[in-house]
Amino acid sequence: MTTANAYPVTQTIRTIGILGGGQLGMMLAEAAMPLGYQCVFLEDNADCPASLYGRVFHSEQLEAFIAAADVFTLEFENTPTATVEQLANLSTSGSKQGMFPPPIALDIAQDRLKEKQMFNALDIATVPFKAVNSEAELQQACSELGLPIVLKTSRGGYDGKGQFVIKQDSDIKAAWQDLKDAVSGKGELTPTPAPLIAEGFIHFSREVSIIAARGQNGQVRCYDLVENHHHQGVLAKTQAPAVGTSHLFKQATDAITTVMNHLGYVGVMALELFVTKDARGNDAVLANEIAPRVHNSGHWSIEGAVTSQFENHIRAVVNLPLGDTDNVHPAIMLNVLGQYPDISAVLAIDGAHYHSYHKAEREDRKIAHITLMPNDVADLEPALAKLVAVLPNKVGLDKKLASGVIDNQPKVTDHSAVIAADKTSKDSNDTVKNDNAIKDSQTKPVIEAKSKTEKAKK
Ligand code: AMP
Repeated sequence: MTTANAYPVTQTIRTIGILGGGQLGMMLAEAAMPLGYQCVFLEDNADCPASLYGRVFHSEQLEAFIAAADVFTLEFENTPTATVEQLANLSTSGSKQGMFPPPIALDIAQDRLKEKQMFNALDIATVPFKAVNSEAELQQACSELGLPIVLKTSRGGYDGKGQFVIKQDSDIKAAWQDLKDAVSGKGELTPTPAPLIAEGFIHFSREVSIIAARGQNGQVRCYDLVENHHHQGVLAKTQAPAVGTSHLFKQATDAITTVMNHLGYVGVMALELFVTKDARGNDAVLANEIAPRVHNSGHWSIEGAVTSQFENHIRAVVNLPLGDTDNVHPAIMLNVLGQYPDISAVLAIDGAHYHSYHKAEREDRKIAHITLMPNDVADLEPALAKLVAVLPNKVGLDKKLASGVIDNQPKVTDHSAVIAADKTSKDSNDTVKNDNAIKDSQTKPVIEAKSKTEKAKK
């Protein structure tokens, strides 16, 4: 595939170089094309999803990748910061048009400790946490924070990996043994030495995320708060907007706007939040982590928002005006994990939109997503039940499939019997909680969508 455009869409930018070539890169390229931009990718897997949309360069072909593109962005946050810095320096010297987001955003997002320190320095509430470099410091953190705590690697963890819940003193040794290699940089996923982070275990009521785009002129536009349901570290379902959260919208938009302004961020960012109670017993959000890229919990925006997260990211990167982030219709997005469904059965559901990532089937791998947006909001729950019924792999979906209820168990590590036992009791509570959420979704999304006009959009 050629990387040349038939005509230049701006004076200086024709081709966008994307670090990574997974489904996020693929969907960025899908959004770039109608705007007149071509994408190329730096990715070692030549058959990656993005390869359908543009030329893929191996990491050993970095110079050729650089030569092929005018401006750079990323779709994969574990990209080496050295590469991102190199691309940013080319822009500073004037030979390229920019690297967005800036390297500092990646540096922070790759390190949970730096990330939480940044949140607190910006007066954004988080769970209480302590850095841990030794078993003695872990003991100390447990007594200061109080059990249970979640012990995590600062770097290299993803999808719930590299985490251990310490419920009682007798778990401390096992937790330290499990994760201590990360401190010296010997862990499989943690080649860079970094302290562990001990976090107070938070009994959150829901997990939500906010996605925003920031342009090169500093303008920030936020999408609706959405509710996320994970299964063992992998996102299973996103509901947009999150029902009954309009009172939390300002806290969330203030937090993400503050972070983006602080980092001089350009592009789309996601901020994952826990909903909990503050000292006065009011609902409040705690920041968990940022993703310096387009995010799985924003896929609904392709059909469900005036401008998708992918298009807004491209607009920011090429310095075009950002588009309206309003939700046009309540939506539910389900990830397809491991096995493809019968596409005709999926598309027989009114309002179902299917996005294949053209990946080989592999156990619990994200290979597609489906967004449900039936014309009548009252059809959302029945559509979800129909969809669940035709998905071959129901991983992440609750047993109560008939009513389309999805489980909402926290995705913290599964590697201890204690937690397994704990999860059993959580599952039943969460099922009740979700029953309510689903019932609400029949009546509330319209109200939520209407409340958007009251939002203080930045
Ligand atoms: P993370 O990798 O930080 O996104 O954590 C993965 C998941 O573990 C989150 O989505 C939560 O469900 C859960 N989790 C993470 N940190 C905590 C915490 N401090 N307390 C309770 N649950 C947590």
